Amino acid sequence: MKRICILGSTGSIGTQTLEVISEHPDLFEAYVLTAGKNADLLIRQAKEYQPACVVIADESKYDIVCEALKDEPIQVYAGADALCQVVQMEPVDVVLTALVGFSGLRPTISAIEAGKPIALANKETLVVAGELITRLCLEHKVPLLPVDSEHSAIFQSLMGEVSRVEKIILTASGGPFRTFTLDELKDVTPAQALKHPNWDMGAKITIDSASMMNKGFEVIEARWLFDVLPDKIQVVVHPQSILHSAVEFEDGAVKGQMGCPDMRVPIQFALSYPHRLKSSFPRIDWWNLRDLTFEKPDPEKFRCLQMAYEAIRLGGNAACIVNAANEVVNLAFRQERCSFLQMADVIEKTLQKVPHQDRPSLEDYLDCDREARIVASEIIQS
Ligand code: NDP
Repeated sequence: MKRICILGSTGSIGTQTLEVISEHPDLFEAYVLTAGKNADLLIRQAKEYQPACVVIADESKYDIVCEALKDEPIQVYAGADALCQVVQMEPVDVVLTALVGFSGLRPTISAIEAGKPIALANKETLVVAGELITRLCLEHKVPLLPVDSEHSAIFQSLMGEVSRVEKIILTASGGPFRTFTLDELKDVTPAQALKHPNWDMGAKITIDSASMMNKGFEVIEARWLFDVLPDKIQVVVHPQSILHSAVEFEDGAVKGQMGCPDMRVPIQFALSYPHRLKSSFPRIDWWNLRDLTFEKPDPEKFRCLQMAYEAIRLGGNAACIVNAANEVVNLAFRQERCSFLQMADVIEKTLQKVPHQDRPSLEDYLDCDREARIVASEIIQS
């Protein structure tokens, strides 16, 4: 029995993780559940899964959650600091990080410092502080297991291999605007961007997928998870999302992992690794599989993808700046305060304005994140 702490149980990844736990009640237990603001869903989940404790990050909802769970044997905590404490609870065997954005960084570090294996969905943690996180994982001998479908595919392709990797083929669906011209992208709306063709995800990552910032972040995530240089990571647009990613070896052989687009598969594998478990999740229907196609991403249309490569090249706090600016523009676009194409402009200008640091500490990352958010907000306002 593995006791799991789900950071962000009320989100898209969090709820699918609970579905995986429901498939294997003899193997997995939801030991800690946490929410940002959604007290109602957290209460329902707590009543159903009976965790030892829950955290509501929004402290104003603490009384509501306490009152609703007063007859249950469940501890209730509130606030961001509580997230850093519950991940360290002695009985927790795995911490699945499904918070969104920069908010995942501190609890993930806290879990690593307590020696807890990490099932990582919150890619922004590695984007912001990949060097620090991978160093801490080595120091504390903590495994970092990918949940992102692409990175899970790469991880699975590397299992059993001892030879050098020549190239990582990171597949991308291309999002809802793959076939749009640059001119058509000028007027796209948040509602259009929120309709992802293949995946049903949280709002932030869905917008990042439309701009391909998400793929840029995945390049950075792959750079740290698999210790490969960015020029060995090739993004290939594959609109059907059946090949989840692949690895090319020095002899030219390519190994990839395929499956239906269903996040429960990589979530389950991260929890059950190194074993595979039976599942009732959908299978590929081979006779009705349409064409599998592959294209080059358009760098003019999707500048955010190029910016991620630039951030790795610059190193230091560059990716932290890009991430903070992206969180600001992502929200501004959803609230119709900036246009789709302006998002890349604001990120680029923020990267130019915030001072570069070569070897940031955790405190430096926190300061840099704050500063970059202020700068990006000012650029949007002006
Ligand atoms: P969602 O927005 O659906 O869920 C985010 C979760 O984090 C919710 O439980 C939310 O709580 C909580 N949360 C948000 N902000 C805070 C905060 N400041 N403090 C505490 N809790 C907070 O996101 P997704 O599940 O889509 O994505 C989660 C992560 O996984 C992201 O990093 C994303 O990039 C990554 N990912 C997601 C995939 C997907 O298919 N969805 C695929 C691969 C990676 P509440 O809702 O209660 O406010």
